[in-house]
Amino acid sequence: MTPMYCSRCGTVGEPAREIPGSFALELLLWLLFILPGLIYSVWRLCSAKDACIRCGDPRLIPADSPLAVHLLAQHPSGPVVRAPSQTRLALLTGFAVVLLVIVLPFAIALWMGRND
Ligand SMILES: [Zn+2]
Repeated sequence: MTPMYCSRCGTVGEPAREIPGSFALELLLWLLFILPGLIYSVWRLCSAKDACIRCGDPRLIPADSPLAVHLLAQHPSGPVVRAPSQTRLALLTGFAVVLLVIVLPFAIALWMGRND
């Protein structure tokens, strides 16, 4: 992924993926109702956006753009390079939990239904 420059704090690095909403609410909606859980999950995924890993600001520009190069040259302390965040891993873990919570009861119900 292209390193991005944060126009707010001057951080250069791979952006973090900011996902709005709450995973706990998403899980609750999936447990109570299938359709609201699905709608909420789709909204969360469609509303996700890249943000600065340091300050969370979404105003990022490519670090190799002329504006970023100019601003980095004026930055007194030089660029701040940050490692990518663990948000993708957290997102995958969340999906795994949702799938486990939804798929496992159906699998158990199917398995118990076959034995009757
Ligand atoms: Zn920032």
